[in-house]
Amino acid sequence: MSDSSRLRHASTVVLAVLLCAVLPSTGWTWGQDGHHYIAQHYSQHLPADLDSLRACDSEVDAHVTDPDTRKGSTPGESERHYIDIDYYPEFLAGTLPRDRATLEALYSPATVSGEGVLPWAIAEVVTRLTQQFQARQWSAASLTIADLCHYVGDANQPLHCTVNFDGQVTGNNGIHSRHESGMISTYLGQLDTPAMSVTYYASPLDAAFDVIAASWAGVAPILAADTEATDAAGGSTSSATYYASLWNSTRVLTQARLDTASVMTASLVYTAWVDAGQPTPGANASALLAAGPSPFGDALTVRFAAGGPLSVEVFDVRGARVARLADDVSGEGSVTWRPGGSGVPVRPGLYFVRLSGPGTNLVRRVTLVR
Ligand SMILES: [Zn+2]
Repeated sequence: MSDSSRLRHASTVVLAVLLCAVLPSTGWTWGQDGHHYIAQHYSQHLPADLDSLRACDSEVDAHVTDPDTRKGSTPGESERHYIDIDYYPEFLAGTLPRDRATLEALYSPATVSGEGVLPWAIAEVVTRLTQQFQARQWSAASLTIADLCHYVGDANQPLHCTVNFDGQVTGNNGIHSRHESGMISTYLGQLDTPAMSVTYYASPLDAAFDVIAASWAGVAPILAADTEATDAAGGSTSSATYYASLWNSTRVLTQARLDTASVMTASLVYTAWVDAGQPTPGANASALLAAGPSPFGDALTVRFAAGGPLSVEVFDVRGARVARLADDVSGEGSVTWRPGGSGVPVRPGLYFVRLSGPGTNLVRRVTLVR
């Protein structure tokens, strides 16, 4: 359910009750589908040195909406999902202090908290991830990456970045969930995000503020699209005509925000990993996985070492397993993959060899050429 702090602009309790009654139970946050989309698309942007983190993809996806669940039980959680950045005249003037203590000295801690603390939440999560990478706490890190996906996703939802978060100031009431839940769920199948290069951010906090400013630029177009769609649908905000018009007008903007959310999450994971000293993800220092040559044509040799029971598998770029090379083995070993050897044709392209076992999840990428 939506958190009560998001309703602080409502002038009466009656309005608050009405809003609660019509909001979807997923709460105000990209909707489940948008968050899962970002979680499912972030790891494709990771550089090869971080391929082993792909082993956590399903866990990241499974936990990406945990921060929403925590709103009901963790004090201070609700305001971590938004910032009403245009509440501050300094934002429009380009002089907004990004240091939280400085802003609190200007506006009071209660005001800063009430207007939302999303950029600082993102910076805190990156710091936590850096510490977990340094400590080689890989499974804890995968839950932190899920949190990062979530908050970066929220920062890329324009309606999480404005005082007019539900169109209530401009007569676009209800646009928040229509855009991020109703529309996304309807048109999810038309979304597509290509792999992009990651960026190292010297200041994750600055990166968060910058992306929030970019998101905020989407507020006015979304509101205009809502007005146009409502007119096109004869006043309806729930018909297929309404959603088709809203999608037509905001498709490019919405896709860009989801693309940015996924690549920015990968960039912040990469940043944390660099700042942690570039530890090998997914294993203690004694585990080993090597696969070569790459590119290869007929045979790939895979050498491994770790405490068992271990399995060695090969996945394609879509995450489908194409070969199981070893199962329930232990210690040091070596196996050979001959693609197509079992009679099932294997297409040329990029593949991921994974060594998994207790405390071990190593991945190496290889290229098959024919
Ligand atoms: Zn959220």
